[in-house]
Amino acid sequence: MKNEGTPSVLLIYTGGTIGMIQNRETGALESFKFDKLIENVPELKRFNYKIDSYQFATPIDSSDVEPEMWTKLVHIITENYNKYNGFVILHGTDTMAYTASAISFMLENISKPVILTGSQLPIGMLRTDGKENLITSIEIAAACREDGTPAVPEVCIFFENNLLRGNRTTKINAENFNAFRSYNYPTLATAGINIKYEYDKIATPDKEKTLTPHYCYDTNIIVLTLFPGIQENIIENILHTPGLRAVVLKTYGAGNAPQKPTFIKLLKDAIARGIIIVNVSQCLTGMVRMRLYETGLRLLDAGVISGYDSTIECLLTKLMFLMGKYQSPEEIAEKMKTPLAGEFTKE
Ligand code: ASP
Repeated sequence: MKNEGTPSVLLIYTGGTIGMIQNRETGALESFKFDKLIENVPELKRFNYKIDSYQFATPIDSSDVEPEMWTKLVHIITENYNKYNGFVILHGTDTMAYTASAISFMLENISKPVILTGSQLPIGMLRTDGKENLITSIEIAAACREDGTPAVPEVCIFFENNLLRGNRTTKINAENFNAFRSYNYPTLATAGINIKYEYDKIATPDKEKTLTPHYCYDTNIIVLTLFPGIQENIIENILHTPGLRAVVLKTYGAGNAPQKPTFIKLLKDAIARGIIIVNVSQCLTGMVRMRLYETGLRLLDAGVISGYDSTIECLLTKLMFLMGKYQSPEEIAEKMKTPLAGEFTKE
């Protein structure tokens, strides 16, 4: 779809440090209302864009985000999809990568920019990183290619000059302005004097398909991190948790785990009971290759599926989404092997 006329952006404010102020009594950061946030960015008036806003009734710290908020965001974007060229979501940084991952699956066939951003310092502070992040995100959300189509038709995170694919991103720093990384996929755009777009890395939407929103999820899932000395009785208890449908297993290196037959049997039995086990490495960079070592091969033989080079945030939200949509473990396992929104590198 081509962008014509005055560029328009819907700014959705959910909360996070960007819109916080210090409580004088406790010293803790608390959320304030959107109007206050906007007062601190008079520069927004200088855009010759139509910028409308939507604010959540109560702005929240992103540690309080629940999947209901993802469905709410999907509703807001879907209901306003034809009215705007792009969307900017102001969100706390702590769980931004989860929200970006989740909505990248829930907004199937998205062909417009959805840019999540926030800041490490509140927007009212002199050295805030919030203004730059917000202003550049709005510019990216409204940007077009020469043929008039959106420059970045996908769900992204913009932070400290880098535009990253949302479902490839992880928060890696609690102090530095440069807080996000995409270890296994290149940067989609870099903001310097100009914004340089890497069009060959940015998604190409299928023009024949229209936005298909999804509002489903199932959170019966756990992340299990392996470490030397982990006790099998604890693993066994976890795997017998009533209602459990999926486990993201954080393994070593290229997707390796202990070879002990008793441990492998626990996994095999869980898979036989219909629990999906996905292998992801504790290493931040690189790919799970279960055929590389015998220790990985045992997992493959037990029925564990590969998470390839996905992030944890991506695997958790993709599984939640698929479990909400499908009942059969075989069908979910099959979908896990297919990239739905550029979330992993197919070997
Ligand atoms: N705790 C804040 C949040 O995630 C941190 C931030 O926004 O940077 O909402």
